[in-house]
Amino acid sequence: MPEQSEPGGQSQPLHSEENIRSRGGGRDRRTCRGCGEPLIISFLDLGAMPLANSLLTAEQLNNPEIYYPLHAFVCGRCFLVQLEQYNAPEDMFSNYVYFSSFSDTWLAHARDYVEEIIPQLGLDSDSLVVEIASNDGYLLQYFVEKGIPVLGIEPAANVARVAITKGIPSKVAFFGEALARDLAEGGKQADLIVANNVLAHVPDLNDFVTGMTRLLKSGGVISVEFPHLLNLINQTQFDTIYHEHFSYFSFGAAERVFARHKLKIFDVRELPTHGGSLRLYVAHADNEAKVETTQVGRLRQNERKASMDQIVTYAGFADKVKQAKLDLLSFFVEAKRNSRRVVAYGAAAKGNTLLNYCGIGKDFIDFAADRNPHKQGLYLPGTHIPVYHPEKILDARPDFVLILPWNIKDEIVKTIGYIREWGGRFVVPIPTVEVMN
Ligand SMILES: [Zn+2]
Repeated sequence: MPEQSEPGGQSQPLHSEENIRSRGGGRDRRTCRGCGEPLIISFLDLGAMPLANSLLTAEQLNNPEIYYPLHAFVCGRCFLVQLEQYNAPEDMFSNYVYFSSFSDTWLAHARDYVEEIIPQLGLDSDSLVVEIASNDGYLLQYFVEKGIPVLGIEPAANVARVAITKGIPSKVAFFGEALARDLAEGGKQADLIVANNVLAHVPDLNDFVTGMTRLLKSGGVISVEFPHLLNLINQTQFDTIYHEHFSYFSFGAAERVFARHKLKIFDVRELPTHGGSLRLYVAHADNEAKVETTQVGRLRQNERKASMDQIVTYAGFADKVKQAKLDLLSFFVEAKRNSRRVVAYGAAAKGNTLLNYCGIGKDFIDFAADRNPHKQGLYLPGTHIPVYHPEKILDARPDFVLILPWNIKDEIVKTIGYIREWGGRFVVPIPTVEVMN
């Protein structure tokens, strides 16, 4: 991502729409990527670490590894929690090893969503569903099964190719205003735009949401899912902070972003995915057919009760995270003093934040197991812990299995529950260190 250089003098007020746009959506390193306010309030400084998804090959272990600062700030004006702009490599998302279809939980979630939304919006063979960050077609495949036209937009070419071979039309591109305009001019506007867990990944938030406004038919609906910042704070989910996640949204912060682009949130669901997510239903602000539901009012009130509009709520987070680190290290030190063998399950991005921030490497964890063949044979960034096929757990018979993707812990416990046959126990690091019985 090229740096935006800022001209010295500012003649416009700091938060004017023109000002935000002229600076590429607040992409300057010192300003909020939502509203343009200077970013001065620290939320959490995790130090420097390698990119969470950049697993290493055996050959790369001998090369220097690039570490980037990982420091989240909160905007004092719109309360958007966000990473300070850093020099992100161009190819951060172009060869992604994350394939959505490798999680059963996530596939079930996608299928349920499609079953629910088709009748709700009356989608049929004349409709168009566009998914932004469509990955390997994990979601759109269920619309295709029902004969509903779809278009996937996915920047990682290797991942998009998987979708295309499954018969899901996919465009290899980053989404933004320019692409949306091209699509609209080519007669493609959407009845439904799905953007699940992508808003956080967007460096230029205002350009992205402008694109959504352009791509959406006048009566269309945008459905957006993201992990809820309220849960991140309440459950100390600090490991969900990593370089690929630029923004962390409360309901209020998201509402302010959409309102700036003449969009309104008219309905909302709270979901258990990713440690507690929100699904927002968004329409054009002038779409009178979409009336705000009581859930919207209730969520606004919940956030007010949790003081999500008070800086003090954000200021105390760093201390909670330090405590979580001490607790996890205490577990490991005791386990190792007692000569226990510990392995990790799931080479998830969040695991790399956790391990690197806590300084837990090969001295504590023998290996990580992951069912994704694209990750097997590689090494975790920073810690260089090797990643193996889950079968390796059967040979190693570890005393403890640390579940890194705690958001799908139930699925993992079911999949490798056999560790209990030799007295093995599961350990979940978040929200507090828990050794499961
Ligand atoms: Zn802001």
